Amino acid sequence: MSAEDGAAPWEDGAARLIDGAPMVGDGLENSIRPLALEEFVGQRKLRENLRIFIDAARTRGDALDHTLFYGPPGLGKTTLAQIVARELGVNFRATSGPVIAKAGDLAALLTNLQARDVLFIDEIHRLNPAVEEILYPAMEDFQLDLIIGEGPAARSIRIDLPPFTLVAATTRSGLITTPLRERFGIPLRLNFYEPDELRQIILRGAGILDVSMTAEGADEIARRARGTPRVAGRLLRRVRDFAGVLNEGVIDAAAADAALNRLDIDRHGLDAMDRRYLTCIAENYGGGPVGAETLAAALSEQRDVVEEVIEPYLLQQGLLQRTPRGRMLSPAGYGYLGLAAPTSAGQLPLLSADEEHSDG
Ligand code: ADP
Repeated sequence: MSAEDGAAPWEDGAARLIDGAPMVGDGLENSIRPLALEEFVGQRKLRENLRIFIDAARTRGDALDHTLFYGPPGLGKTTLAQIVARELGVNFRATSGPVIAKAGDLAALLTNLQARDVLFIDEIHRLNPAVEEILYPAMEDFQLDLIIGEGPAARSIRIDLPPFTLVAATTRSGLITTPLRERFGIPLRLNFYEPDELRQIILRGAGILDVSMTAEGADEIARRARGTPRVAGRLLRRVRDFAGVLNEGVIDAAAADAALNRLDIDRHGLDAMDRRYLTCIAENYGGGPVGAETLAAALSEQRDVVEEVIEPYLLQQGLLQRTPRGRMLSPAGYGYLGLAAPTSAGQLPLLSADEEHSDG
C-alpha cells in the first residue's frame, strides 16, 4: 500500500510513526542524543535537581543515590541515565528488566561494577520477582545474597559489592512494588514537552543532520510530535525525506504541514490509531466508562500499548478521562470527534495518572 491509496505508509504491518517506543530505523537517534545535562532541553525542574544531586555526590566522592526516572516512552529516560554516568565520570552499564532472567544474571552484572558506576535497568517494572528480591540488599547494603546449589547441599553466600548507583527507568511507575520504589533515593518524573522545547530539540537535530529548516517548519513538527522528543526526531527524519523530494530540501511550515498530512498525522499530533481509539469509545461504548482490557481487545491491541503509548498523550491533551470504572471521553474528546457531549459526561470522580491499578 502507498500513501496515495489513502492509507498511512506504515499501516501494512509496520509500527506507528508517533509511537513513543523505540522502533527499527531509530538508529540515527544516537547521533542527536544530548551528552551533557546542559544540552538536555526541557524538564527544567528535574534537571536542576539532578545537577545538585550529581554535584553533591561528586564533591563527597560518593556514589549517587539510586535514581528512578519514570514517564511515558521517548521522553529521555535513557538519555538522562547516560548523562548521569557521564557527569559523574563513571562507567555506564545498561540492561533491561525482562532481559535479567535469573538471579545469577543480575549477580554477574553487579559483581562486574566498579565503585560509583552506574547500572541502568530499563523497564524495571518487568523485573522477575526472584531477581527483584536479590536487588533489595544490593541496593540497600551493597551486598549480594546468593543461594548456591540445590536441595540439602544448597548454601547461601554473601558477596560485598562496590557502592554503585542503580538508575532505573519505567513507563509504569504504578506497577513497581512498594519495597523496590522505596529504595530509590531520587525518584524523578518526566513530563511531556512543551512545543517550544520540542522546537529547540528539532532545530538542534536538524543542525546535526544537516537539514535546512525554518523556525516555522520546526514549529509545525513540534506541535504535532505528541510532546515526545523521540517522535519529534522521527518526524524530522520523515519530513526531511518528503522535503528532499518536493521542496528542494528546505523544511518550512508548508513543507512540514504537507509531509505530516501525508503521514496522516493531524494538527493535534494524533494519528489513525488515536482516532480509532477515541471513535471506539464513542461508538461502541457510548463514550465510556470502559475498561482498558475491553478496549484493547476491541482494538486488537495489546493492553500495554493502549496504556503506555496511546492513552498518556490523550489524557494529557484532555481528550480522555480516567475514572474508577474505566476510561471516558471528555467533553474535549467529543469535540475532537465532532460530536456533542452528553450532559452526563464528566460526572464520575477522576483518577490521577499514578492510580493505575484500579480501573482495569
Ligand atoms: P526513553 O528512554 O524515555 O524512552 P530516550 O532517552 O531513549 O527515551 O530518548 C528518545 C530520543 O529522544 C533520543 O534520540 C534522545 O536523543 C531524544 N531526546 C530525549 N529527550 C531529549 C531532550 N530533552 N533533548 C534532546 N533530545 C532528547
